[in-house]
Amino acid sequence: MRNTLVLNASYEPLSTVSLQRAVVLVLQDKAVVEHAHPLRRVRAASVDLPLPRVVRLRRYVRVPFRQRAPWSRRGVLVRDGFRCAYCGRRATTVDHVLPRSRGGGDTWLNTVAACAADNHRKADRTPEQAGMVLLATPFEPTPEASLMLALGADQDDLPDWLPLPA
Ligand SMILES: [Zn+2]
Repeated sequence: MRNTLVLNASYEPLSTVSLQRAVVLVLQDKAVVEHAHPLRRVRAASVDLPLPRVVRLRRYVRVPFRQRAPWSRRGVLVRDGFRCAYCGRRATTVDHVLPRSRGGGDTWLNTVAACAADNHRKADRTPEQAGMVLLATPFEPTPEASLMLALGADQDDLPDWLPLPA
């Protein structure tokens, strides 16, 4: 699980790493803990520190290019705020706008959050064929937002000053 956010020295989100990797960065003095889990701690032989959720590199790292956001089902649900793209109610599933059986892929632009009922109703059809209307156009999150998406369910305990997913 890559669920610890790494910030550049300039506080820009840079990447996500495993908890183990984050702890190593801190122990090697390459990063400082900017935000820790309120209760949990990392304890090992000679280590006892608050469980880091966000670490910041001490030295600025020049980033030559921005990677594109990797697609994930969870990322689609978070991007869409867990709201069904067809009815606006709570979504727990991901719908392929152009069904996979018709060549639709696992991409940001082809997937939306959907409630189970609408996903079932739409089935193996396009929205037009099913007579359903998308309430919003799917979009590709920025790389920065995708880092936040990658952090998953524990976003609630992240600090306020971090940029939120677009
Ligand atoms: Zn729905």
